[in-house]
Amino acid sequence: MKYVGAHVSAAGGLANAAIRAAEIKATAFALFTKNQRQWRAAPLTRQTIDEFKAACEQHGFGPGQILPHDSFLINLGHPVQEALEKSREAFLDELQRCEQLGLTLLNFHPGSHLMQIDEEACLSRIAASVNYALERTEGVTAVIENTAGQGSNLGFRFEHLAAIIDQVEDKSRIGVCIDTCHAFAAGYDLRTREACEETFAEFGRVVGFEYLRGMHLNDAKSTFGSRVDRHHSLGEGNIGHEPFRFIMQDPRFDNIPLVLETINPDIWAEEIAWLKAQQDAEQAA
Ligand SMILES: [Zn+2]
Ligand SMILES: [Zn+2]
Repeated sequence: MKYVGAHVSAAGGLANAAIRAAEIKATAFALFTKNQRQWRAAPLTRQTIDEFKAACEQHGFGPGQILPHDSFLINLGHPVQEALEKSREAFLDELQRCEQLGLTLLNFHPGSHLMQIDEEACLSRIAASVNYALERTEGVTAVIENTAGQGSNLGFRFEHLAAIIDQVEDKSRIGVCIDTCHAFAAGYDLRTREACEETFAEFGRVVGFEYLRGMHLNDAKSTFGSRVDRHHSLGEGNIGHEPFRFIMQDPRFDNIPLVLETINPDIWAEEIAWLKAQQDAEQAA
């Protein structure tokens, strides 16, 4: 089964995310469970939780189809102890919110060394942060997202993801989400079928598809290897349509949320319809 959707707004209540996803005929969605630009959020109320669960059930979204995203402020590899602790507590809170909502995945950006520690030390800090939060929660998998490698963000090499996974104690609760725009900007080519075969073979060798828990489907305004994170609508950027067709036709991407973070929400319904149609294209071929 392919689950396709978008990162929808939860404005006006978390239940609205499920409703908005259903409106664009999505079979997966992503959301922020709190304001992504603030450290603190009021705890979830019983009512918010119940309404969210009811909306998900009504529209047929199980936990495996929902990929919540954590706050942009969190840096689990922060070089400064006090700031690191603040990030760890915020990340723990994010995981606990997922627990309360009955969600089983939490997508996060690995972290940045801010030019103050080396890559290896930063990756170890990130893994230690994940261990800290996983030990204090149950049932939620921490899903590392690959990055474009902008600034001092780590996670732009598959080896970074593998190094974090390697140092996480509970391998059953660590996974990865590959963002196509980020991979392309980081120097993993996806423009042709052959390039997709090669890039995903490398992913399989270095990380392993058993850890793949989600995908972000984005074309790129940024250029190949530029380390710049700028998304575009499918087929309108520097990547083109090929990897999205490839992903829809490849069973290694079954049963995980495939989520658009493309720049024009007005055409998400069309993009989702196009993605779904690529599966049938294979059967016809
Ligand atoms: Zn992404
Ligand atoms: Zn991005």
